[in-house]
Order: sequence, then structure tokens, then C-alpha cells
Amino acid sequence: MKSKCRGANLNFESSEIKRCVRVLKEIDFELAYLVLLTREGLKPLSRWEKPLAGDGLELLRQMGLLTKQIRRTVKTGKEVVETIFSKLPAYLGLYEQRFGNRPIDKSAQTRRFEGFLFGYPPCCVKEYIRKPYAPNNLGAQEQEILFHWACRDCKITPVLLGAYKSVYNSLNSF
Ligand SMILES: [Zn+2]
Repeated sequence: MKSKCRGANLNFESSEIKRCVRVLKEIDFELAYLVLLTREGLKPLSRWEKPLAGDGLELLRQMGLLTKQIRRTVKTGKEVVETIFSKLPAYLGLYEQRFGNRPIDKSAQTRRFEGFLFGYPPCCVKEYIRKPYAPNNLGAQEQEILFHWACRDCKITPVLLGAYKSVYNSLNSF
């Protein structure tokens, strides 16, 4: 058995991928979940805001993802480094072009663009901008495994949920 997992051609069940996911889970369960969602194509691009060292980045690459670290500033002027990852080089480029070396902001314009990159349904993004966390029809556990807040009577989220659930549940098998 090889000690490293590499390449995007490996299937989801391969033992090397499983090893990578196990290590990612040890770093942070949510990171492992985001990596799998992105690897499966359910999220075109994901952002990790906590620090991620060389080994963590290497794991993402071994899982077949492209990574980039983006410098941003917060209101106090302090610099923060975000890690973005995707299978799509153009999406990393779009993120860097729009947000690289720029202050972090939560404007409607930013939320719309982030929603597009992160694979959020546009209806949910629109509703969230209008009224964050407005009541929806999802159960708490369903809402919990999503990264966007679903709009009421969403027509896209229930379809997405099935796919998210199977990725989420698969994490327990690693
Ligand atoms: Zn929606």
C-alpha cells in the first residue's frame, strides 16, 4: 500500500483517499466534509478560514483539489490568510481576482458572488441578504449539514440535501 494518496483519478472508496479523509477529520471534521463536498463537485469552490499548514494543504492536493492561499484584511487592518480549494482553476482565479488583498466585507454584492462560487442556490442567497436566518421548512439537522441558510419553500435545497446527506454520512465510514 502506498503511503500517500494522489491524483484525482482515484475513486471515492480507495483506501488512499480514505486515509486522507481520516487525517483531515483529525484536523477538523468540517474541513473533511468541505473537502469531500468540493471533490464531489457539489461545491465549485470552498473557503477555509482557520489556519492550514503545509501538511493540510498537501492533503487537499492529494485529494485532487487545487488550492490557493489568499491574503485579506479585517477591519482592524490585521491580515488574515484564507485557504480556497476547488477542482476548477478558473474559480480559484475568480476568487483571487475579486477578493485577493482586499478587506473582508459582508456586502450584498459580496454575498451574491460568494454564493455563486460556493454553490449556494441563488434564491437562498437573495432571501438571506433580505433577511438572514428567516424561518424555513427544514429540520434542524438538515439545516445543520448545509453551508447556506435555505429559503422558505426552496425548490433547490431539497434536491441538494440528498447529495449533501450522502457525503455527510459517508464521512462516518472513513
Ligand atoms: Zn432557496
